Amino acid sequence: MSDVRVRFAPSPTGQIHIGNIRTALFNYLFAKKNNGTFILRIEDTDRERSTSEFEEVIHKEMEWLGLDWDEGVGVGGNYGPYRQMERLDTYNDYIQNLLDNDLAYHCYCTPEELDEMREEQRKNGEPPRYTGKCRCLTQEERDKLEAEGRNPVVRFKVSEETKDIIVDDLIRGRVSFSSDVIDDFVIVKSDGIPTYNFAVVVDDYLMEISHVIRGEDHLSNTPKQQLLYDALGWEAPRFAHLSMILGTDKSKLSKRSGEAYVYVSEYRKKGYLPEALINFLSLLGWSPDGDEEILTKEEIIEQFSIDRVNKSAAVFDVEKLNWMNGMY
Ligand code: GLU
Repeated sequence: MSDVRVRFAPSPTGQIHIGNIRTALFNYLFAKKNNGTFILRIEDTDRERSTSEFEEVIHKEMEWLGLDWDEGVGVGGNYGPYRQMERLDTYNDYIQNLLDNDLAYHCYCTPEELDEMREEQRKNGEPPRYTGKCRCLTQEERDKLEAEGRNPVVRFKVSEETKDIIVDDLIRGRVSFSSDVIDDFVIVKSDGIPTYNFAVVVDDYLMEISHVIRGEDHLSNTPKQQLLYDALGWEAPRFAHLSMILGTDKSKLSKRSGEAYVYVSEYRKKGYLPEALINFLSLLGWSPDGDEEILTKEEIIEQFSIDRVNKSAAVFDVEKLNWMNGMY
């Protein structure tokens, strides 16, 4: 095994869709090509929406497509557990570390107070951001607020000196984020569970993830994650954000995108061949060296490289999938 360690980190909050599975596939291909390790981590911290049934669907569809994982839920490994809800003690240790080092603080503002804050900023033509109101509460003030029955969140303290954050993305190149858009963001919710941004950083670090390959909808989270890596004194992994998948009418792939289905289960039920779907999905944003379009999984692995992943949106053309399906 090489040092390449990648992960697919779905949230079991719904049916697995084409965009998710393409992310899983690109991680799998990258791991296989580089003799690395492919991990399945279940990000189940959204307590209201996560279910074990949806987790089972993830396993089932990945197994159907032959996207076997080397470590993670169901197969163990030295870096587990791989379900975030089983890792709360670990997150708490690092939260405490940030609190002790004055890099995070408890915030007692209620949703109504936050709304008022934003309304005030809107009136003054200022961008909406947390003012840092609870940054300097004394223990006495905190006790009083807690006695009122308020459950605090924990916010990460974004230093005034923070410069613009540069993310060097393997697909998108250098992306710069203005520090003005980042305020003291929440890292633990009022129910005591860490937010996605916090848990993902701790996990990716502890699981020694070398490359984070995920959808571009997470690009805007990356500067926050970068600040957390810096605060914890950790080196961030390399990032690669995959472009969106659009329907042939260039709209976001949805139930209305012509004949294309959104959920992987629909392709399985309609009798599509997993080999055809893998072949088709691999070409959604990646192009092989030659002109050959019908490729086996082994051939795709052999040719796969992040350099050939395209940064413009990929178009899901179901006619092409149907043609491919007929070729197998
Ligand atoms: N749980 C996140 C999702 O399903 C994963 C994001 C990530 O890969 O960092 O979108």
